[in-house]
Amino acid sequence: MLRREFPLILRNLRYILRTPRFFFCQLQSAYSWTFWFGPSGPIPLGVLILLWENGEMIYDCPKCGGRLHAVGVGGSFNGGAFWGLCADCSYDSKVVSRSWIQGFFAVARLLPLYKNELIIEYGKRSRFDWKYGLVGETTPDKVLVPPVEPVDLAALLAELEAAEGGAAIPDEGPEPVAPRKCDTPTVFLQIQKGEGVLKIPLSLGEPAKQGAGNEQTSEGPADKERIQ
Ligand SMILES: [Zn+2]
Repeated sequence: MLRREFPLILRNLRYILRTPRFFFCQLQSAYSWTFWFGPSGPIPLGVLILLWENGEMIYDCPKCGGRLHAVGVGGSFNGGAFWGLCADCSYDSKVVSRSWIQGFFAVARLLPLYKNELIIEYGKRSRFDWKYGLVGETTPDKVLVPPVEPVDLAALLAELEAAEGGAAIPDEGPEPVAPRKCDTPTVFLQIQKGEGVLKIPLSLGEPAKQGAGNEQTSEGPADKERIQ
């Protein structure tokens, strides 16, 4: 289905980027994987489009030399592959190539910025004081961005076709889906250590952050000390 209708998707990238239900559409073969680095996992269609528009996850088609739009990538130190669709000849097989790793890192950089999860801004909390009891005001938590129910591929194709025929997309936004704030280092080397996985942040051109990985907020322990 994707192979036949891929041109329809390529013609309508703008709609997909601006409509969260479309943006988070998950193609079955769209994922990244390697044992050594992270983050990896399912790649939403919108993230693929952002990469394609930036010239990333685009490879030379081994059959016709055209533009192969990769939807997935994975491998190990011994070798890896990317897979996707050629816009020109519909080639859609896996391509074993050393350059899988560039695609992987491009995906890893964007994945944490585009998660279809609830984003909450936490309100203020009153605190306990031995003399005055509860002090300070309490304000409610604010839901900034609710998660969306993404469409499946069939529904996406149907809506894009209707849009090309002149139908309006009711929840199309004025701007592309915005990235969310992310303070943690995005790309990391992961090493199996005992029962757990050690994640070592990799700085790709940016200065490494001090104390990264220790994400405990100071609020909790500080409150406890006061009460003791
Ligand atoms: Zn081709």
